[in-house]
Amino acid sequence: MNAVAPRISPVSALPSASELDRALRDASPAEVIAAALKTVGREKLALVSSFGTESATLLKVMADVDPAIPVVFLDTGWLFEETLAYRDTLIATLGLKDVRSIKPAEETLSRDDPDRDLWFSDPDACCRIRKVEPLSRALKPFSAWLNGRKRFQGNARADIPVVEDDGARLKFNPFANVTREELEAMFVRAKLPRHPLVASGFRSVGCMPCTSRTAEDEDSRAGRWRGRAKTECGIHTMKIS
Ligand code: SF4
Repeated sequence: MNAVAPRISPVSALPSASELDRALRDASPAEVIAAALKTVGREKLALVSSFGTESATLLKVMADVDPAIPVVFLDTGWLFEETLAYRDTLIATLGLKDVRSIKPAEETLSRDDPDRDLWFSDPDACCRIRKVEPLSRALKPFSAWLNGRKRFQGNARADIPVVEDDGARLKFNPFANVTREELEAMFVRAKLPRHPLVASGFRSVGCMPCTSRTAEDEDSRAGRWRGRAKTECGIHTMKIS
């Protein structure tokens, strides 16, 4: 794929998301990341990763382009120990130079979730204080971010463009076009370590109370917020100002 990266622009005059999307519509993930880097510069670009079951692939592509791109990881206070260990494994394996583990504000937790049961009574509010607000703070210094959503994941992700404007900054989706088979091939080709919970039947991993195993014939994200209408935590559906 031979996408042409848009011209370099000063941060004050970035190309529009639609202009970038047109230029990068058929680009490879590495080409999209390289174009994002060229467009805003490393100090203004962050990758947001959950260090979940598919995260190693995007992190590997990023590390091959530039391992010093800042990586934002939301440590919600409800993650599996295995996810925290996997973060450390991938930092070492891929040589990631700048992984920032972001936690929710203590005062917000004590005020809004003193008994740690908000995930049950109001999961949208729980995601807001444990994911959306911390991400909003973490992304303040950046003009653009990268994330790992794929169209094949369906629901709200089925039609994502390669580049969009989230209302506050440019948002690059380098894996928008990637298929499940291509992801699997990347794991094998690069000998990437698997998330430790994959072996016990978890195909998508988030916070402990909101993650369950999935059957082979289920969608891979079916185990997230099982039994509720909720399919997204909000970091991709709310404005991150
Ligand atoms: S995924 Fe569950 S536990 Fe995690 S922040 Fe959202 S509601 Fe809370």
